[in-house]
Amino acid sequence: MSLISEHPVKHLVVIGVGLIGGSVARALKHAGFVGRVTGVGRSRENLDRARELGIIDHWTHDIAEAVHDADMVLVAVPMGAYDRVFAELAKALPKTAVVTDAGSTKQHAIDVAEKHLADSSRFIPAHPIAGTEESGAEASFAELFVGHLCILTPTENADAQSLAIVDAMWEATKSRIVHMGAKQHDDFLASVSHLPHLAAFALVNAVRKQGDEEHDPFQFAAGGFRDFTRIASSSPEMWRDIALSNRDALSANIDALQAELAEMQRALENGDGEKLLQSFAAAKKARDEWLETGGESL
Ligand code: NAD
Repeated sequence: MSLISEHPVKHLVVIGVGLIGGSVARALKHAGFVGRVTGVGRSRENLDRARELGIIDHWTHDIAEAVHDADMVLVAVPMGAYDRVFAELAKALPKTAVVTDAGSTKQHAIDVAEKHLADSSRFIPAHPIAGTEESGAEASFAELFVGHLCILTPTENADAQSLAIVDAMWEATKSRIVHMGAKQHDDFLASVSHLPHLAAFALVNAVRKQGDEEHDPFQFAAGGFRDFTRIASSSPEMWRDIALSNRDALSANIDALQAELAEMQRALENGDGEKLLQSFAAAKKARDEWLETGGESL
């Protein structure tokens, strides 16, 4: 008679023990969903700290060594590292192991998995819609995902059992699960996440360049500026990778924002207060309605 494991996943390997990878590991340990957790990363200091904090039980720099007896692998590295990471993990991944990820763009994740994995039907892409501007294991916490959406974008070939265990895994983090196609995900996220980050970086740069020897414009900034630009404190490397891995959808969204700004500029030049009022009121109405529905925050 076979013994039923106490944990749905006996050995979880987390590649990239940062804010997201660390938070998933903490949440799953807390929920009793995983037994042993191995962390893989580049920085010894971060991995030692993750072990001290009890986020992982062991660590290695070697992806193949870590995954050779894995039941589940979570890839939680920046999008720019996907190709290298999947190439390495494909070398030693057991046939029975299931792979998921937390990356912010999904078609790129699927393309890389299909390029490298012998059986990409066991890769179930995921994107938890939760985060902070902090990075690294130290910033992780078990409650990060509670009540937030986690979008799964399984392909048509997805293995049903793998999908079920990945669904259960993200549910154990207390995320609210939704499924959609990767393209639809990338289009939506380009507008509500990727464009706002680019706009925040652009706005801070535009203001930064207004300074002169006498005055620093940031001295005069207040709460509105702080709210609008909070996400410009996010990791530049991570956002470079996200932007590049969703460039077509993001570029179309930049066009849409530029068209809105151009319309406002025309109204200003024409002294057309009615046009400005209509535009501001339509935006306020849309945002207020969104907040009334609970206002999921990214
Ligand atoms: P993070 O910087 O906190 O952690 C990333 C970790 O990956 C770091 O520990 C880094 O050392 C490690 N890493 C980088 N390259 C590696 C490589 N080649 N091999 C092994 N480890 C490597 O970043 P994060 O915020 O946890 O983001 C991780 C992923 O989750 C990204 O793909 C990001 O797009 C996605 N994501 C982030 C957020 C957010 O708000 N931060 C939200 C949802 C999804």
